Formats: sequence, structure tokens, C-alpha cells
Amino acid sequence: LGPTVCVGEILVEIVATTVGNGFLEAQPLVGPFASGAPAIFISQCGRLGGQAAMVGAVGDDDFGRVNTDRLKRDGVDISAISIDPDYPTGSAFVRYRKDGSRDFVYNIATSAAARFGWSRGVADLIDRTGHLHVMGSALSVPSARAVIDKAVDIVKARGGTLSVDPNLRKELKLDEETDRRFAKLVAAADLLLPSGEELERAAGVEGEAKAIRRLFEMGVTEIVLKRGAGGATYFASGGDRIDAPAFVVQEVDPTGAGDCFGGAYLTCRRLGMSPKQALTYASAAGARNVTVLGPMEGAGTRPELDAFVASTERRP
Ligand code: ATP
Repeated sequence: LGPTVCVGEILVEIVATTVGNGFLEAQPLVGPFASGAPAIFISQCGRLGGQAAMVGAVGDDDFGRVNTDRLKRDGVDISAISIDPDYPTGSAFVRYRKDGSRDFVYNIATSAAARFGWSRGVADLIDRTGHLHVMGSALSVPSARAVIDKAVDIVKARGGTLSVDPNLRKELKLDEETDRRFAKLVAAADLLLPSGEELERAAGVEGEAKAIRRLFEMGVTEIVLKRGAGGATYFASGGDRIDAPAFVVQEVDPTGAGDCFGGAYLTCRRLGMSPKQALTYASAAGARNVTVLGPMEGAGTRPELDAFVASTERRP
């Protein structure tokens, strides 16, 4: 089958431990935690026992080692993660507001995460990749764009598959060029994992039903719409629909839920599970992750997710 490969930003995340009003006031912080949406996704794939590998870059520093050590422990092949001798590992600061929204400050543009390119190691990995996963957030990083373009062409030409999570954060630059690339990526995707309004954005039309129809016309075959504590819905181009209720949990840190959900869904499907079974593991992975502080600290192994499913109620 070939491994699942994710290309994109690897960061450390430093999180405020109290709820406040944004970055203008001092708050206690905790971290560094291994992070970056693509890294969280691939960590969950590795933890579930899927063949997983990551393409990206870290600096030659402790923040980089927090990430590479963590991914290696999760069973992720890190041979295509380059260590940049000149630039530091990227970082992100996160704060939660009283209304439940989040603010991010990203230090990516001048970090190793924005400087990796096509290399022998990347080429070797992409040549045996069975499935490629791309986050829309990676498109705001020029170096990642170039690697993604080439990787998508190679993997799709060889009969491999592509999943896309739009992951459109308000802090990321969404210029015309990024929009154009995003549309191209969606058109090449087999599986789309949007949340909220990203569905309509990806389809370029308003209304859930219309957007789903449009995306199937474009060639997408499976869509899983993430709705936070409202659960998730699976749509197949053949007409099937499955609603997956969310598990009832005490939310501690919502960051990373969608990435763990996506990594678990994809891995379960690639391991041969039905959409329904994959949705159960994905919902468990997303819900379990929000109960733990740190973006990927709650990503679960199969026994951990089995225990979570057996002991946790679902919303009616
Ligand atoms: P993020 O960008 O923070 O990673 P996202 O917007 O991509 O998240 P969400 O819809 O927030 O994705 O979460 C993905 C899935 O995880 C949901 O569909 C749901 O199954 C589960 N989940 C997320 N938050 C909760 C919660 N508070 N309670 C229960 N399940 C949750």
C-alpha cells in the first residue's frame, strides 16, 4: 500500500493556561509541546499503527528535538524531516478567549518550517507513498507549496490517493495565489476533511447540500464534515450519509481535535475498516485529544481509543 505521508509545518506550541482576552495581557504559559497541524495528524496515524511518515523541517535545537523524538516514539518515519542548521524550529502561541475562540501567533516565516525543499530523502519517500495528506495551512508557506505540488503530481500519477484538510486559520495569509492553489488541491483530493464553513469555501458555493454535490462533481469521493462537539458527518459520492455523534467529554484544550480526528479516520480506512467504524475511532480520537492540554498530547493508540469508546457516552 505504501505509507501515509504528510507534508507541512512542524512547530512547538506554547499555550496559555488561563482564559483571557488575547495577547495584550500577560498570562501563564505552558509548553513547548510538539505541534503543527500536519505533525499532529501524522502522530495520530503512527499511534494507531498505520505506516506513517512526515516531510518537513525543524531547526538544530531542543524545540526541533521535542518534535522528532515525539514523532519517532509514535512510530512515524522521520527520515524526510530535515534539520536546518541555520534557522530555528517554528513556534506558535495559543490563547483561549471567554467566548471559546482562539488566537494564534505563528513564528513560521523565518523558521526551518518555511525553508525545506525537495531532496533525495523526500524523493525516495514520495516514490513509495500510498497516500498523501495535505493541510491547507501548509499552502501559506512557499517552500511547502513547491514540495506539495510535486508530491501531489507524483503520488496521484502512480495511483496513490490524496486527502485534504482545509485548516484555514484566520491568521494565515489567504491571498489569490493561495486560493488558486487551494482550489487545485481540492480538485485533486479523494477525501476531504473540512470543518464548519471550510466546506463551502472548498466547494466555492453556499449551502451544505450544494457544496457536497459540487465537491463530488469535482472528483472528491468521500467527505467527512467535522462539527466540533456537534459530532461529524460522512458523505460518500455514491449517496451514503452517516452521522457520527460526538462523545461527551470535558474540554480542556480544543487544539488538535480535527487533526487527530482526520489522522484516525484516514488510518482506520487504510487499515480496511468501514466508514462507520473509522468514524467511531475518529470521533474518539478527536474527543480524547480535547481532554488533554497540548495539541497532540491526547492522541490515542488503538487500545487507548478502544478503552475510551467503551467507557464514554455519546451525545444523543
Ligand atoms: P482543530 O482545528 O482545533 O484541530 P477542527 O475544527 O478541524 O479542529 P473539530 O470539529 O473541532 O475539528 O473536531 C473534530 C472532531 O473531534 C469533531 O467532529 C468531534 O468528533 C471531535 N470533537 C472535537 N471537539 C469535541 C468536544 N468538545 N467534545 C466531543 N468531541 C469533540
